[in-house]
Amino acid sequence: MNKPYSILLYYCYTPIADPEAFREEHHLLCLELNLLGRIIISKEGLNGTVSGLKADCDRYMEIVKADPRFAKVDFKVDESDKHAFAKLHVRTKAEIVHSGLLHIDPNVRTGIHLEPKEFKEMKDREDVVIMDMRSDYEYSVGRFKNAVTLDIENFREFPEKIDALKEELKGKKILTYCTGGIKCEKASAFLLEQGFEDVYQLHGGIIKYGKEAGGEDFEGKCYVFDNRVAVDVNSVNPTVISKCYVCGTVEDRMVNCANPVCNLHVPICEKCGWELEGACSTECKEHPEKRAYDGTGYYQKNLNGYNPLKGFNRRKTSTVSK
Ligand SMILES: [Zn+2]
Ligand SMILES: [Zn+2]
Repeated sequence: MNKPYSILLYYCYTPIADPEAFREEHHLLCLELNLLGRIIISKEGLNGTVSGLKADCDRYMEIVKADPRFAKVDFKVDESDKHAFAKLHVRTKAEIVHSGLLHIDPNVRTGIHLEPKEFKEMKDREDVVIMDMRSDYEYSVGRFKNAVTLDIENFREFPEKIDALKEELKGKKILTYCTGGIKCEKASAFLLEQGFEDVYQLHGGIIKYGKEAGGEDFEGKCYVFDNRVAVDVNSVNPTVISKCYVCGTVEDRMVNCANPVCNLHVPICEKCGWELEGACSTECKEHPEKRAYDGTGYYQKNLNGYNPLKGFNRRKTSTVSK
């Protein structure tokens, strides 16, 4: 396999003194390298997922790593036939992942990082609980065998769910995981703050575990936030754990309901997909705004009005030396 594009997933908790200025500089860099995707910048660090031609992505990683602030950034790299995004957004926010836990600095305290092979060794021990830090629609299509999941639609809801789990987690070693590792930085710190003593996190998340530990015992697919929707990670003992939302047959093909008002994100089999024209129910099929179904269940957001230069206050000369 030697595909022309790369898809990068990365984060770095590191102080950024002037997020606005860095945002402009970084946005320009991405434009010059023809990258597409989503990047969030805050005082606490950088979080991104982008796609681009392999050489451009390589150059990007080189430039980011050369900045001492991002020396410890860990890029997860996938190859691809094409871009995985339609637009580029580089934004500043209060946190690089919205958790509401603004007081937590993972550079001060966080769970012990486990490399994929260490995680694999520890995960089946009797005194261990594996905890999925992701949202319901993510783990519904794939998760670690025996993982404890949280009934949350958004990561920011997780702190309030911990109380109910206190008995189950008591005296155990807690191994947290998420897609690329970023959520676990604050989640594991929060667990330590709540009095749990043995807290570990899967460094690099499911994506890195798939590459370095063969994805063993990860059941189903890993949900991702680009137009691939879900990716395979388990090359050792793969399974399918999700069912068609309509007919209940085993299925891991994620579809957005063609009714834009519903937009429910669920697995729907090929057959039901065509029968309901991409909708999740007959009501949605008859909705006046229903989008045309092309068999994928993926709807590109409207590109009208998209301006790749949005957000610039000042112009700068090139940041990339050719
Ligand atoms: Zn079906
Ligand atoms: Zn629907």
